[in-house]
Amino acid sequence: MGAVERTLVLLKPDAVARGLSGRILQRFEEAGLKVVGTKMVRMDADLARKHYFDLEERFGKSVFDVTATFMQSGPVIALVLEGVEAVANVRRLVGSTFPNLSAPGTIRGDFAHTSKAYTEAKHTVAANLIHASGNVEEAKYEVDLWFDGAELFEYPSAAERFLF
Ligand code: ADP
Repeated sequence: MGAVERTLVLLKPDAVARGLSGRILQRFEEAGLKVVGTKMVRMDADLARKHYFDLEERFGKSVFDVTATFMQSGPVIALVLEGVEAVANVRRLVGSTFPNLSAPGTIRGDFAHTSKAYTEAKHTVAANLIHASGNVEEAKYEVDLWFDGAELFEYPSAAERFLF
């Protein structure tokens, strides 16, 4: 069995505004991931900068700017999910960055279809419903950034003896 990990998931403003939060959360719960933290947050510029600290370096200023603006355009639901190799497993369920390239059966593949759905100042962003930590190191940084220790919970899950 692999290591039990925690990972950060954000239901982005498009997921919340489209009323898909429950259905998306259900996907994770059905796969056996355990919710150990959750809250609704309006991202501000400071949190956007800390969360997407490397986006400008990776893709350029316009991608950072439009993504940060999109993420502040409405509330997001932040989740910490726990499970065996949760970081990679959640990414597998989410699909690839651009929904039009995500396989059917993934969350992005099933609930979105376009690569560029949100336009701001002529730039477009992947309105792709979800953020999920990219690797274990990123997950640790992001869980600490979004949640205080007291906001994370330990409790027995009924499914654990089958799934963990
Ligand atoms: P992922 O969310 O799949 O891990 P990245 O970490 O590479 O993707 O990028 C973070 C977010 O920035 C993406 O989810 C998307 O909203 C936005 N983004 C990344 N690359 C682009 C791009 N080339 N054009 C528009 N938006 C982008």
